[in-house]
Amino acid sequence: MRVPLVDLRAQYLSLKETIDAAIAHVCETACFIDGDAVHKLESEIAALSGARFGIGVASGTDALVLALRACGIGPGDEVITTPFTFGATSEAIMLVGARPVFVDIDLCTFNIDVARIEQAITPRTRALLPVDLFGQMVDRGQLQELCKRYNLKLIIDAAQAIGAKQRGIRVAETGDATILSFYPTKNLGAFGDGGMVLTNDAEIASTVRMLRVHGQSGYGHYEVIGYTSRLDTLQAAVLLAKLPMLEEWNEARRQHAALYQTFLAGTSVTLPGIEPGNYHVYHQYTIRHPQRDALQAYLQQHGVDSKVFYPQPLHIQPPYASLGYHLGDFPCAERATREVLSIPVVPELTTEQVEYVAECICNFLDSA
Ligand SMILES: *Cc1c(COP(=O)(O)O)cnc(C)c1O
Repeated sequence: MRVPLVDLRAQYLSLKETIDAAIAHVCETACFIDGDAVHKLESEIAALSGARFGIGVASGTDALVLALRACGIGPGDEVITTPFTFGATSEAIMLVGARPVFVDIDLCTFNIDVARIEQAITPRTRALLPVDLFGQMVDRGQLQELCKRYNLKLIIDAAQAIGAKQRGIRVAETGDATILSFYPTKNLGAFGDGGMVLTNDAEIASTVRMLRVHGQSGYGHYEVIGYTSRLDTLQAAVLLAKLPMLEEWNEARRQHAALYQTFLAGTSVTLPGIEPGNYHVYHQYTIRHPQRDALQAYLQQHGVDSKVFYPQPLHIQPPYASLGYHLGDFPCAERATREVLSIPVVPELTTEQVEYVAECICNFLDSA
């Protein structure tokens, strides 16, 4: 049996008529920038994420950069984040001229260890930038309390967590700004790049709107140096066509995760930990095992795709060399990079495929 990690073609075919019609409509109206689909998507995503404002931008990375700038983060500022994430998170901090300060992760959830944030706060700390990694929200109550106590901005990278909840709180309900990515493989994916900044703050919303069109407050009136970073109408139309399926897709991911839990609990594989009260949307289903590379090779031999998210922690990589971190600084993040393996969990999989993956893992453990 073949089990792919993602199947974007299958997802397209399941909605082909709706998506094709949505694309054709944009072509016929020829409104390729700032069309109706963009506005509709912004308000629908904001509503489902618990925010007042949604501002579509060109990518999740741009959403991070624009959110940081709209929160006033720049040179001389420190921003606390995780070394175990996609590189865009800390890259955005560097791009606005600020300094990323890494804090180790909780090996159980793979998210930043909130209990260790306080000791990393200095007089220069201006913001926290945690990541809802693999689809599970970081504890919003604790983050908010820290931000209040130390007067910090809270910007959340929810690129992998659209639709996630925590005790009834949605991803963008808390904090100053939350960002999403619509990269094709994300839980809600475009046919190219796209992203969004979500906020409840009218001033941050208008600053992001200004930054995405060259820093203009009105046509020809330049307030600050900005960017060309809009969400294409075509991408918004594709996303709107897919949006009604998001909840069902996230539920399917959760069902696959529940099957893995049933089949793999009690084995020597460490399953992803879920904090009480979290509705995890499993952008990735990530297990840990000391013989990770052998397990991955075994799965590949049996037709099962898997991937290591992430093979290297960020603090020891060349772009961050000037920050002075060393191997050994963040033992949990470093251990995660050696042991993690993300296995197929996309909604398009059948129950048989998920059971087959679990069976292959059990066979590997028996033979190891
Ligand atoms: C995908 C992703 C991003 C950036 O998204 P792009 O749209 O590819 O720029 C940022 N942070 C995390 C955690 C991501 O997974």
